[in-house]
Amino acid sequence: MTVRVRLAPSPTGTLHLGTARTALFNWLFAKKEGGTFLLRIEDTDIERSKEEFKKNIFDGLQWLGINWDESPTIQSERINEHKQIIKTLIEKGFAYKCYASEDELDEMRETQKRNGLAPRYDNRHRNLTPQKESEFINAGREPVIRFKISDQKLISWNDLIRGEMTWSGKDLGGDMVIARRAPADSIGDPLYNLVVVADDSAMQISHVIRGEDHLANTAKQILLYEALDLNIPVFAHTPLILNSEGKKLSKRDGVTSISEFKKMGYTSEAMANYMTLLGWSVPEGVNERFNISDITEIFSFKKVNKASAKFDWDKLNWLNSQVIHEMSAEALLKKLDPLFKENNWSLPNQEWGTNLVNLIGPSMVLINDGVDQAKPFFEEPELSHDGKDQLEIKESKMILNFILKKLENLDAEIFTKDQALDLINQATKNCKVKKGLVMKSLRAALFGTLKGPDLIQSWVLLSRFSKDRSRIRRFI
Ligand code: GLU
Repeated sequence: MTVRVRLAPSPTGTLHLGTARTALFNWLFAKKEGGTFLLRIEDTDIERSKEEFKKNIFDGLQWLGINWDESPTIQSERINEHKQIIKTLIEKGFAYKCYASEDELDEMRETQKRNGLAPRYDNRHRNLTPQKESEFINAGREPVIRFKISDQKLISWNDLIRGEMTWSGKDLGGDMVIARRAPADSIGDPLYNLVVVADDSAMQISHVIRGEDHLANTAKQILLYEALDLNIPVFAHTPLILNSEGKKLSKRDGVTSISEFKKMGYTSEAMANYMTLLGWSVPEGVNERFNISDITEIFSFKKVNKASAKFDWDKLNWLNSQVIHEMSAEALLKKLDPLFKENNWSLPNQEWGTNLVNLIGPSMVLINDGVDQAKPFFEEPELSHDGKDQLEIKESKMILNFILKKLENLDAEIFTKDQALDLINQATKNCKVKKGLVMKSLRAALFGTLKGPDLIQSWVLLSRFSKDRSRIRRFI
């Protein structure tokens, strides 16, 4: 079978983590099978669909390295085809016009609730007489179009992730609306289940891979495929992504958009890696840190769990730090440089930049950590509590005085690690203090705090702008 899969996002919001994970599973499966991965923009909700969201979705997928084949199908451009299919369903007796008003439907559901029944449409207009229908039309009622769902029908499919699945027609809420209200002589806007079947079929989709929240839709869609005598694709329903409290990950959890993760400083490699692990377990012997292009051969739905996946920040952070640590200093600098520029920080030269990155890289978890850690090299830091306490120790002034005098005889441009070390040793001897005290006082004067990366290397970097001198001068 030629594998053709698709992602069908609605451009009514930014690219969500769940959608991106669905995209990844589709993409991985297509790559593994030598198939095609397609995009369909489900923009039939005209009011909520926005160009900016579409762009955010495209950008997010590309950032993650998920490229699609062929140009995307735009659902709203196919509305005539959708309406034609609805007409066919009506002509063949699979669908009908339902004139029940919203008030009547509300009342019906209220009664069901009072009687302890699950709300569902009671199929009241399935067999209207032509006379009754004319009465409704004359009264100015506008119908929806419903597709008949038999309560007795059992719908089964072999899900690539969940195995044998069976749904009963009676659990699908009664005859389903496939077109919105419109004057009786026309067909209103076609709705989700109908258009998905129409489009998946037109796009010759072989496998529909999507979230588990679509299980009931799949049952309904299979009925439509059968009625229309179309090939039914294979289905795979991916597990939900839950937050740390075990609830479905939602906007309330803060970050859910791929663009937000990017803004926080997560790398595309770590995000794609992590999202694949949200549901898929690596086969034995395979490292959990991988690039998606490396696992296309071994990806399989057999290793996708049925159980929901819990979002784990620690694991994502771990993967992100791995990706950062794997990067060459040049590559990391390339990512950081635009962020430095946003702050109007410019590198004296490329070598200085790579030295800085080599110094701060090992403790970075997020790309943005690099900005925080580079800041004291570009901007004079504030004095923190520990730094202030250190500089109040009476020997501090003497130490700094000694070092500054010596520095004034050295060329800042070519200040070396050996010279720095030598100065520290000289200060230790001359001021008759412990080396630790010299180092701490110096660090406090230069960087405002006692915490930070290797002092000697940091000092050498800072001296490049003669900033060490001016910073020490403040405290003597
Ligand atoms: N637009 C639907 C969604 O984003 C597509 C679901 C499907 O894949 O059929 O949930």
